[in-house]
Amino acid sequence: MSSFVAHALAGYGVGRGQGRAVLVACAVFALLPDMDYALLWGAGVEIEPRLTHSIGFVTLAAGLAALVFRAVQWSSWRHAAVLCWLAGLSHLVMDWLVGVHANPLLYPITMQTFASPVGILPSAGHPDPFNPYFWRNLAIELGIVLPLLLWRSKGAIRLAGIAICTVSLAAGLSLTR
Ligand SMILES: [Zn+2]
Repeated sequence: MSSFVAHALAGYGVGRGQGRAVLVACAVFALLPDMDYALLWGAGVEIEPRLTHSIGFVTLAAGLAALVFRAVQWSSWRHAAVLCWLAGLSHLVMDWLVGVHANPLLYPITMQTFASPVGILPSAGHPDPFNPYFWRNLAIELGIVLPLLLWRSKGAIRLAGIAICTVSLAAGLSLTR
C-alpha cells in the first residue's frame, strides 16, 4: 500500500484546477479504498481480500456520489463524479505499483488478486514518527509522485517541485543504506 499522503496527493492531481469542492471530493475518493482500515482499527474486522480495493467498489462509490451530487443540484455533477471515479482508481493503481499486497482489482467479475510483479512505489511504513522506514518510504514516494503532479506547472512552482523531489529522493535513498 502507498501512504495516505501519496494517495491524497494523487487525488489532488486528479481534481486540480476544478475548484475547491471537486478537489476535496477527489482527495476523499483517492483515500476511500483504505476505509477498510477504519473497520480493522475501530472494530477489529479485517476484510480479506480487500474488496474496497476493486474497480467494482470504486465504481459503486462514484455512482452513489453522482446521485448525491445530482440531488444537491451540483451543476457539473457528472464531471465531478467522473473525477471522483478517476481519483478512486488512482488509489488502486498506486497500491498495485507497490507490488506487495495483492488486491481483488476486478471484483465482482473475479476474486482473483493482483499486484505488480515489480515494486515501483515503496510500501508505506508504519505511521510512527520514530519509525525511520516511514520517513524513508514517504520521501521516496514524494520523489516519485510529485513530479507527476507538477509536470504541467510553470516557473517557481516547477522549480520548487524539482527541488523537493530531488531532496526527497536523496533523503529517502540515503536512509535506505
Ligand atoms: Zn490502499
